[in-house]
Amino acid sequence: MERYIKQIIFERIGERGQKFLIKSKVVLVGCGANGSIASELLTRAGIGELIIIDNDKIVLDNLQRQSLFKEKDVGHLKAVVAERELKEINSKVKITAFIERLEEKNLHLLSNSDLVLDCTDNFKTRFLINEYCVKNNIPWIFCAVLGSKGMTMNILPKFNYCLKCIFSEMENMPTADTAGIISSINHSTVAFMVTEALKILTKQEPSKDLVILDIWKQKIEHIKPKKNPKCLICLEGKKKV
Ligand SMILES: [Zn+2]
Repeated sequence: MERYIKQIIFERIGERGQKFLIKSKVVLVGCGANGSIASELLTRAGIGELIIIDNDKIVLDNLQRQSLFKEKDVGHLKAVVAERELKEINSKVKITAFIERLEEKNLHLLSNSDLVLDCTDNFKTRFLINEYCVKNNIPWIFCAVLGSKGMTMNILPKFNYCLKCIFSEMENMPTADTAGIISSINHSTVAFMVTEALKILTKQEPSKDLVILDIWKQKIEHIKPKKNPKCLICLEGKKKV
């Protein structure tokens, strides 16, 4: 416990919270910029087990914001390099990398986890995570960034809304390839996401807001998500509960 002493002294975590963290299993979908930052923070915080799902290779322009990777890693698989780097940071955390892209056929990789973190870059995958997690009562955190803006929102079984209630279809959205991105928005949005992860994993009450940041303008907005009574994911999810 010595390595976590500063976190334990922080009264909202304490020894009780740290014990919860050590027993927790988190799945990270995507290991780009948000995945780099989230995985590093959670590994340093001492979660028990981390699953990383990503099949991309590192390219040179990833180094601007994907903080786990170095020049020598260009051309290598993100999941493999991340696993190596994270094990060097904290050998006590069980880290498993799956070199796969999350699709319908491998959604079982999210099963038996305490929390799923959305570190993807697209709504198609987010809707898959949403559907699986709602149906299987797994808490997950939505996180999206672009330009200097970021959004994050907790979606828990006990909340009465899901991602599909808030965002219906997100076709033809701009991406980092077209709109660009500055790395400080990855760090600031993921800071919110990981803090919420700590609350959820230590059995404390997380935020029920959709948080929207604009780091360039130093602006933070809080929006109360509303349930869509016609949302098919929520209606079908309810049947199973
Ligand atoms: Zn819904």
